[in-house]
Amino acid sequence: RELYGIARWGLRYFDINTKGQVTVAPLKEQGGTIAIVDVIKEAVEQGLHFPMLIRFHDLLRNRVERINKAFNDAIVELEYKSIYRGVYPIKVNQLREVVEEIIDAGKPFHHGLEVGSKPELYAALAFHEDRESLIICNGYKDALYIKTALLGRKLGKKIVLVVEKVEEVTNIIRYAKELKVEPMIGLRVRLMSGGKGKWEKSTGEDAKFGLSTQEILQVSDLLKEADLADCLKLVHFHSGSQIPDILTIKKAVREGAMFYAKIKQIGHALEYIDVGGGLGVDYDGSRTTFHSSINYSLNEYARDIVYNIMDVCDSQGVAHPVIISESGRAVVAHHSVLVVETFGDIKKMEHAREPAKPEISHKLVEEAWYNYTHVNPSNPLEAYHDAQHNKEETQVHFELGLIDLEVKAEVEKLFWLTGARVLEHFVNAEYKPDEIVELESKFSDQYLCNFSVFQSLLDHWGYGQLFPIMPLHRLNEEPKRRGTLADITCDSDGTVSKFINLYEEGVDTLPLHDLNGKPYYLGIFLTGAYQDIMGDLHNLFGRVNEAHVFLDEDEDAGYYIEETIEGTTMEKVLGLVQYTGTDLKRKMKSQVDSAIKEDRLRPNEAMRLLGEYEKGLKGYTYLDLKKVRKKS
Ligand code: PLP
Repeated sequence: RELYGIARWGLRYFDINTKGQVTVAPLKEQGGTIAIVDVIKEAVEQGLHFPMLIRFHDLLRNRVERINKAFNDAIVELEYKSIYRGVYPIKVNQLREVVEEIIDAGKPFHHGLEVGSKPELYAALAFHEDRESLIICNGYKDALYIKTALLGRKLGKKIVLVVEKVEEVTNIIRYAKELKVEPMIGLRVRLMSGGKGKWEKSTGEDAKFGLSTQEILQVSDLLKEADLADCLKLVHFHSGSQIPDILTIKKAVREGAMFYAKIKQIGHALEYIDVGGGLGVDYDGSRTTFHSSINYSLNEYARDIVYNIMDVCDSQGVAHPVIISESGRAVVAHHSVLVVETFGDIKKMEHAREPAKPEISHKLVEEAWYNYTHVNPSNPLEAYHDAQHNKEETQVHFELGLIDLEVKAEVEKLFWLTGARVLEHFVNAEYKPDEIVELESKFSDQYLCNFSVFQSLLDHWGYGQLFPIMPLHRLNEEPKRRGTLADITCDSDGTVSKFINLYEEGVDTLPLHDLNGKPYYLGIFLTGAYQDIMGDLHNLFGRVNEAHVFLDEDEDAGYYIEETIEGTTMEKVLGLVQYTGTDLKRKMKSQVDSAIKEDRLRPNEAMRLLGEYEKGLKGYTYLDLKKVRKKS
């Protein structure tokens, strides 16, 4: 548990059972725990291959419930005189099944939706049925976007058009009059209190979105002139996603609340304050202001928002508004686990324990041998420095053409052997000098994993965000090796070589078990927000297979896979870049026909090859490890 920090980042959702397997507990009152390897087994029996994304729908429901409970508890505790209405920003995970589950779990709380584009609005309008809950429309808007939202008003929905640019107001006024409908309008204000964290550009004077104070007054005048002053209902701000420090949130909320109070005082019937997203997830369990962590709890977050809005509004003599938050990451991150299978490892060094004295007679080799044989407890670091110098000198000699390959090879072999000996002296050291930390990571092994970092862990590649990764089984055995992960894209960036750690912002290697010829599964956790939906088509791997798991309330500790969704087939992914299946097959057929004509292929062999090509087009893009294993 400590080694992988599961009790810290897993909240109480994830744990390890007595068989050494990772379990998921959706925390339903009657609910049991699910061993992830059992789900994998069943999904494989149903025909799913790796990589495989498992969605635990009960976790999704639990997140919605917990966030609403945190705000409702804070409201009661602080005697706040209004209510909370959450909305889920669809962009964080647009998958229909995910959105439907959130809408369903949110019904008792009237949890609504937030959209940032026309397609998201189209989806939200159709799937949103509860007229008590809100739809918040953010992002830049053209005529169709505005008219579609106004259609929602005609249907009786509480749908708010949040103005990001002054020109949008003119259009809203025009179309509202044309369609004879009363719009609900919001303003996104640009806060000075800057965000902190990887997504900090969402706020501050240079932010892409939001109105300056001058623009707010312009909008106010335009609405008053159009006799729509009372349609301005909401003030919104967003300080960036994954805000690590609670102080940033407090400051932003106070500034946003002051805007709310002042805008209300100039004659608008404001009712809602929308604090945006930003509620972070403690990906590394460190509870710090590291980028992949947060230094606050959900309850603290909710209490601080409620308290600071109340405090500012009271000081300005303004009634308490309905509080909206647009949490996405904190709702969906936990529910999905990406399961990848390792299919090999590249060991840095497999050497004989005690090599014989080299036969090559050369000063550089003799020096290297001396360094190797003189590592002892009193001077391990000195021996390593000498070995480093010897290796560098050898490289210079090689580049000048002064030594041949045998000398270079012998020196390098002895360098790594010396390094291994040096490291033995630092195994339990409390302090490790920088060069030793670097040496340790040089010795780590690479585990080859059947997945694409660009498809499934985009923020790790793009932003260096860390995710908890650990073996899903064999946790009763000590993991004796340390490794990094290499994906199957042909890109040297397609690796994971920073892992979570409670005490520092990422370490270079992950403790792993020796491969023993049997499948070895790793789980990449907390990937439900942004990652599993945003994937990039690098190398055309496409979306991965999915299994959707529900707890079976009628059966003790039971679960069932309600749905499986097949990942992208080769034909589908190629279609996205304009290669149609028909074209590909036609072109292959014509080449095969020529090969038959020119006697390079026999007709029955040609037909078999063509058949395999066509069958492959219908198949999964990732490696078929069963076949790889059978062959090896
Ligand atoms: N609302 C807006 C306007 C956003 O831009 C975002 C994402 O950055 C969110 C909500 C969701 O934020 P989070 O995932 O941090 O909750």
